[in-house]
Amino acid sequence: MVTLANLYAFIEKGHHITVIGPSPYHYYSGMGPGMLGKVYTPEDIRFATKDLVEKQGGTFVTGKVVRVDPKKKTVLLESGATFFYDVISFNTGSYVPGTMVKGDWKDIFTVKPIETLIHARTRILELVSQKKITISIIGGGASAAEIAGNVWGLTRDVGVIEPEIRIFAGENFMSHIPDNVRTKVVVSLNKRNIEILETGYVQEIETGHITLESGKRFKTDLIFLAMGVKPSPIFEQSGLPTGPDGGLLVNTYLQNTEYPEIFGGGDCIYFKDRPLDKVGVYPVRENPVLYHNLMASLEERNLIPFDPGGDYLFIFNMGDGTGVLRKKWLVFGGRLAFKIKDYIDRKFMRKFQSIE
Ligand SMILES: Cc1cc2nc3c(=O)[nH]c(=O)nc-3n(C[C@H](O)[C@H](O)[C@H](O)COP(=O)(O)OP(=O)(O)OC[C@H]3O[C@@H](n4cnc5c(N)ncnc54)[C@H](O)[C@@H]3O)c2cc1C
Repeated sequence: MVTLANLYAFIEKGHHITVIGPSPYHYYSGMGPGMLGKVYTPEDIRFATKDLVEKQGGTFVTGKVVRVDPKKKTVLLESGATFFYDVISFNTGSYVPGTMVKGDWKDIFTVKPIETLIHARTRILELVSQKKITISIIGGGASAAEIAGNVWGLTRDVGVIEPEIRIFAGENFMSHIPDNVRTKVVVSLNKRNIEILETGYVQEIETGHITLESGKRFKTDLIFLAMGVKPSPIFEQSGLPTGPDGGLLVNTYLQNTEYPEIFGGGDCIYFKDRPLDKVGVYPVRENPVLYHNLMASLEERNLIPFDPGGDYLFIFNMGDGTGVLRKKWLVFGGRLAFKIKDYIDRKFMRKFQSIE
């Protein structure tokens, strides 16, 4: 975002900028569950990337990069088009693997890209206006909790038949989250009759059915896939150096370990010094370093290192106007926690939307 907001600085110096993305908008994931729960509109949570680029004199290409040729310094798009670069930054994020899905994807939605949640929202409202349905969320982490809570929020008080909501959490729901936070999240979901199943992992998904590894089968009307995300597959497919999760391997300057003109940030990288959680706080902290290093690399100036920093604040949006907040030893739930998240997220959006 910081680099995008400062493209004019590159252009003023005579560089050509091309930004490639699958949509003219970029949706902010931190507010994605809230958009699903109708706290926000899709317009509230998106940046007009294409406009931002073109207003500054850059070129925006609507498309998806599928491969890089680091020797020829080109990227290949799904459309077959290729683009040359002197310096490139990958910020392609992560995706939810869908290998367990058999058959077509009718009424099956991944939590990323965030745009998918717009379609899920429409479909849920359509189904609940017709009959009582069951909505299943596969995944045992924070995004599963937020999606479940916000599906509840979406169908609450709108005069529809409230759905049954069920989380298939594997063996332990939110096992990587401190106990005092987890308990607050579980209490919040349980009191709204959101069921959390910890009876085993899901093996196969098809429209209308979920099968566990044990062979037990569940009927369902709509499914969200909210299992762990994987870095964008471009790097493995291109034979670039990657970390164990397939993320672009970068050094302390956010620069690929083998090709110094390739940079990256966010969920799609593997930071060599220490693996980073796939949370938005790291791309935000990486922003100014990436901007500086892209420019410095074009001008043959010194690069600056990225310091991931220490503990970070996290706040879950529980979908009923409350949140659960944790920062170091401080943990609390309730309306204030959500208000703080809402304030921080809206401020972040305003900062970049005002540049548009
Ligand atoms: C439901 C949900 C809620 C979350 N809530 C929070 C939260 O509250 N706080 C928090 O800190 N973290 C949260 N996270 C984690 C957060 O989403 C990620 O850590 C963060 O979005 C990573 O930012 P990024 O810029 O790397 O990737 P993204 O935000 O995913 O952006 C990637 C961009 O690259 C584009 N792209 C993808 N593939 C290609 C391609 N091949 N070619 C061209 N463009 C491509 C995409 O369209 C997208 O615009 C949440 C995650 C989910 C799934």
